[in-house]
Amino acid sequence: LMGDYTVKKDISEMSLAFVGAGKMAQAMAKGFLAAGVVKADHITATAPSCRSQPTLEDIGCQFTHNNKEAVENSDIIFLSVKPHILPGVLQEIAPVVTKRHLMVSVAAGVPLQFLEEKLPPKSRVMRVMPNTPCVVRQGASVYVPGSHVEKEDSEIIKSLLSSLGYCSESNEGMISAVTGLAGSGPAYMIQKRGFCSDTYKDPVYVAIGLGGMGQAYAFTAIDALADGGVKMGLPRELSIKLAAQTLLGASKMVLETGKHPMQLKDDVCSPGGTTIYAIHKLESGGFRNLLIDAVEGACLRAEAIA
Ligand code: NAD
Repeated sequence: LMGDYTVKKDISEMSLAFVGAGKMAQAMAKGFLAAGVVKADHITATAPSCRSQPTLEDIGCQFTHNNKEAVENSDIIFLSVKPHILPGVLQEIAPVVTKRHLMVSVAAGVPLQFLEEKLPPKSRVMRVMPNTPCVVRQGASVYVPGSHVEKEDSEIIKSLLSSLGYCSESNEGMISAVTGLAGSGPAYMIQKRGFCSDTYKDPVYVAIGLGGMGQAYAFTAIDALADGGVKMGLPRELSIKLAAQTLLGASKMVLETGKHPMQLKDDVCSPGGTTIYAIHKLESGGFRNLLIDAVEGACLRAEAIA
């Protein structure tokens, strides 16, 4: 199965396929184009329905329903279907996977060993855990090389992911903690929105309340998110970087997309997925109520000392 195809070295010559043309695939494709690292006509995305076709064609990418054909014509394959869809997709495409292909799974919770077993022997497989702020090139990603990847493969993935924001090599034992911190992170942060009741009409006090406390809140949130990462096994330094980059990315998405924060929150909450579980935890702890109280508290204090 593994032909004697010469592996390309230059990213700008490579063609990319996203098997699964959903939110994560679109965020990465848009980020790559914004960064100028890949040509639009070198990107193909696949899905059974036509839902994402207009968006992808608008940005100049190819769209097809044919997974095998997309794999056959590409060098780097991002497996970006939902984790429960992945086994069927691997079975479907395995017959056309060759030495040419670098297979990169972004699926949460699917181990490298499983991917390697389902693909031809010695397939070059990697796992990547990205997040949707990739779309504004403020993503936070880690990658984990599989058993048969070359040093050049890691370098290629590192430079591709670095064009989408912060990126670091990691090991598989850490990837769940990264999913909890950076993958689900934007939704926690997008939940942050200011609130001002009619009682405090002077916008200056409200601005002091929101602005001052907003920064302090962000520092505290970065530290607390980083604590969560450390608790789940990430080194402190990586944990702080992922947390900070995640807040930066979420803020940039709110500012640059013009979408309502709750729309962006909804976009990253898949049914039954990791993020909605995290949101439930936040809501049980009164997360939004606390932030509203904090703005109000700072605002009242600003009025009192004025
Ligand atoms: P999504 O539902 O938006 O996208 C899935 C896409 O796969 C859709 O376009 C769907 O039509 C397509 N699809 C379904 N069956 C298919 C098939 N048989 N062949 C080809 N395409 C098929 O989901 P998403 O949020 O983009 O997540 C995709 C993957 O990315 C998941 O495995 C998830 O764990 C991972 N991920 C997502 C995020 C995130 O923030 N959304 C972060 C990190 C990792």
